[in-house]
Amino acid sequence: MGDKISKIISLSKRRGFIFQSSEIYGGFSSCYDFGPLGVEMKNNIKRAWWDKIIKEHENIVGLDASILMKPEIWKASGHLTAGFADTLVECKSCHKRYRADEVDSEICPECGGELTRPRKFNLMMKTFVGPVEAEAATTYLRAETCQGIYVNFENVLNSMRLKIPFGIAQIGKSFRNEITPKDFIYRTREFEQMEMQWFCHPKTAAKYFDYWIKERFDWYICLGIKKENLRVRHHKKEELPHYAIAGADIEYHFPFGWREIEGIHNRGDWDLKNHSKFSGKDLSYFDEDPPAGGKEKYFPFIVETSGGVDRSLFVFLTDAYQEIKGGRTKTTKAAKEIEILLKIHKKLAPVKVAVLPLVRNKPKIVKKAKEVYRLLKPHFVCQYDELGSIGRRYRRIDEIGVPFALTVDFESLKQDDLTIRDRDTMAQERVKVENLIDVLKEKLSS
Ligand code: ATP
Repeated sequence: MGDKISKIISLSKRRGFIFQSSEIYGGFSSCYDFGPLGVEMKNNIKRAWWDKIIKEHENIVGLDASILMKPEIWKASGHLTAGFADTLVECKSCHKRYRADEVDSEICPECGGELTRPRKFNLMMKTFVGPVEAEAATTYLRAETCQGIYVNFENVLNSMRLKIPFGIAQIGKSFRNEITPKDFIYRTREFEQMEMQWFCHPKTAAKYFDYWIKERFDWYICLGIKKENLRVRHHKKEELPHYAIAGADIEYHFPFGWREIEGIHNRGDWDLKNHSKFSGKDLSYFDEDPPAGGKEKYFPFIVETSGGVDRSLFVFLTDAYQEIKGGRTKTTKAAKEIEILLKIHKKLAPVKVAVLPLVRNKPKIVKKAKEVYRLLKPHFVCQYDELGSIGRRYRRIDEIGVPFALTVDFESLKQDDLTIRDRDTMAQERVKVENLIDVLKEKLSS
């Protein structure tokens, strides 16, 4: 893995973004825990997605379906058949398995043993409901959130009195028994998805497919991802999954190459048709106002946008990470050091404001700084830091991407004000404490 990724992994652990799961027991492969800053950032990503999708569109509603569902759903979706399987080869000697498309020789990259012929391996995670581990009690942890949306199509349509076109959005955990989890949190066995399913007339699906690719691409750009690190890759026909008519990936240029971060698919009528067939419930839609006029009964087409919370957090961290050699904070010491700056978008930054007393040994300054911290805490995610020189503290908060640092100094005691330092420009301005909440709200939303 690239040098930059190693640095991000190390920063993530050191500063409380991401920890290896079960670490004190030696770690649990491909599972991660999000620390105090990681969970704030994840929540910010989910909020930014929800706000964009639900608040900025008139006809998209939310859902939170259960992770465990009737196993028949996974038969209807194609997940229990060849459709949701990786092709693997296994080493006859050490029994390690690899995705067939990731090894280009006939011998094991690990031990040099002979590899088996490729065979399919299903990615669904099996579990049991009820007290017995019998076949009848078998079900699966969901491998994608969207099936919960399809099986609730009618419930949502009727309860919300919606008309086509409309969308249903959901954020939640998914599980896949990935065979080659790697690249930190890029591919894990437990992850969160943000999915939106757009139900529309078949004749309009191609138009909405283009629309949603643009919408989703722009979302990443608006949240600060550099344009040159983002691209759309349209799928060739032979690459399309079993359910799709058309597909495109939004890809990010990671240090380990261009990789998918979100998929957009025109799924045609595959989903509602199949769930009608398998459940016996007719999920077709009676359209009283179709585009060509008259009245029409059909299975709505679905255009889906499917992104990962963890994967996009990885993107936002990677894109924001910068190393600046000496001089940002302009002390002699700093000139010799490499400073880390996490230029995360203000909306996503896990900590919004840091409160710093200029010096630690003046009780009146410390007292005032603590008062400011308590004043702000109900409004913003804040940190109070009094340890070390002011330059070192600025560097500590730059490293976790805090957009604004407030310094309480001697003047503050006389004037009831403080300085606000902007992370990106390092410009400083004095603001009265009584105006502080409004000023920060304004700065954080601009
Ligand atoms: P890949 O080819 O990377 O396995 P996929 O095409 O199977 O991904 P989709 O089923 O389209 O992925 O899932 C949609 C999104 O969910 C992905 O773009 C990604 O952001 C996220 N995602 C899927 N699998 C994982 C995983 N194992 N770990 C983390 N995120 C994932």
